[in-house]
Amino acid sequence: MSGPLQELTDYDALRMEYDGPLMAVGSYCRSELIVTEELFYGAQDNEILVYRDSLTDVIEGGPRVGCCGPGDRKWNLFCQEKHRIGIEMADCYMPHFVRLPLTHVKLIKVNCDA
Ligand SMILES: [Zn+2]
Repeated sequence: MSGPLQELTDYDALRMEYDGPLMAVGSYCRSELIVTEELFYGAQDNEILVYRDSLTDVIEGGPRVGCCGPGDRKWNLFCQEKHRIGIEMADCYMPHFVRLPLTHVKLIKVNCDA
C-alpha cells in the first residue's frame, strides 16, 4: 500500500547518488523512464519504481542479501497476506528504490486539483 504518489516523468528529477533515495517520498516513476537509458540494477520494463518509505504495510522477507542492504534482485517485500509485491534495492553502491512489477501492484488514479 501507499498513499497518493505523484509520477515523475523527468529523468533529471531522479537522484543518482549512491546510498540515498532515488526519489522523494511521495513520488514514483515508471521503470521505462530509466530502463531505456541504461541497465538499472535489474529493473525491467513495466515496473513502478518508488522509494521504500512511500510504502506502508509491507513486510520484509525472502533473501535480503547485500553488503550494506538488500541488493541481490530477489523478491524481498511482501504484503500482509505474504504475496510478493516488490524487490527492494538498497545497498551502498546504488540509489535506493523498490521495484514493483505492474503484474503485482494495482495503480489507482486519483485526481488532485490542488
Ligand atoms: Zn555496502
